[in-house]
Amino acid sequence: MTVKKLYVVGSGAMGSGIAQTAATHGIQVVMNDINEEFVAKGYNKIKKSLEKAVTKGRMTEEAKEEALANLTTTVSLEDAKDADFVIEAASENKDIKLGIFKQLDKICKPEAILASNTSSLPITEIAAATDRPDQVIGTHFFNPVPAMKLLEIVMGLQTSEATYEAALALGQQLEKVPVKAIDKGGFIVNRLVDPFINEAVFMLEEGVGTAEDIDNGCKFGLNHPMGPLALGDMIGWDVMLAVMDVLYYEYGDPKYRPAPLMRRMVRAGHLGVKSGKGVYDYSK
Ligand code: NAD
Repeated sequence: MTVKKLYVVGSGAMGSGIAQTAATHGIQVVMNDINEEFVAKGYNKIKKSLEKAVTKGRMTEEAKEEALANLTTTVSLEDAKDADFVIEAASENKDIKLGIFKQLDKICKPEAILASNTSSLPITEIAAATDRPDQVIGTHFFNPVPAMKLLEIVMGLQTSEATYEAALALGQQLEKVPVKAIDKGGFIVNRLVDPFINEAVFMLEEGVGTAEDIDNGCKFGLNHPMGPLALGDMIGWDVMLAVMDVLYYEYGDPKYRPAPLMRRMVRAGHLGVKSGKGVYDYSK
């Protein structure tokens, strides 16, 4: 199956990144959000990113114009009715996602595949909100989507192999490197990296090393591009805490308990780069 028309729900960091990537790979994309202000924000982010690519010589002016011609925006979910493939990248809230999938199931053509970009919610439960659970799958892209090569394809309990093949084909159309996982908490990447970042917070709390020394240990001893505490600041400690809470709940294993300091940082509003302060200070 070649995807000709993709509908993306949510125009935030991930939705706009997915829409941009699809539009630059010759796919007709409709990008949605709850109001005109949010879709305009997503559209302008894409336009700026493409303009930057042209300035830097990574893209021609014609390719930019072609990509923008492939992209339209809407605030109506009804416009998903003729899409082959829908990717939901709305806020990480189960009730919001279940509501969207219930509506999409009614709106979309019977053969359309409905995918979620969720980082932590069970695809099996999202799929169960529809009358086509075999055609529901996780397509977990990484931020920033145009630059990050990985696509985690996440199977719910009822996801069919045909649906997997379609998601795989879309990943190949977008030149991503796909990995396949079942929808157990954290899938592959977050189950690896989030406990790793959590352990760094435990170490900071215990005074094993300073933040800089913990991060430098990983940068220069493991060749990581950035240390785990700087990475947590970038992801946002509220997001990190939500994922650790899901892992702890899903597996019931104390090894996934969030570091108390992480919860205290979230309570203090020290969410990382986005709030101006996390482990490090970004206010200046
Ligand atoms: P974001 O907050 O930047 O964007 C979410 C967008 O969804 C917002 O613009 C919001 O207005 C919109 N939205 C909320 N309810 C909606 C609805 N009913 N219909 C349409 N749009 C709606 O969030 P994000 O970082 O882009 O994350 C989106 C999804 O991608 C989440 O499920 C998140 O867990 C997942 N994800 C995020 C990252 C990341 O690094 N940010 C990485 C992988 C996956």
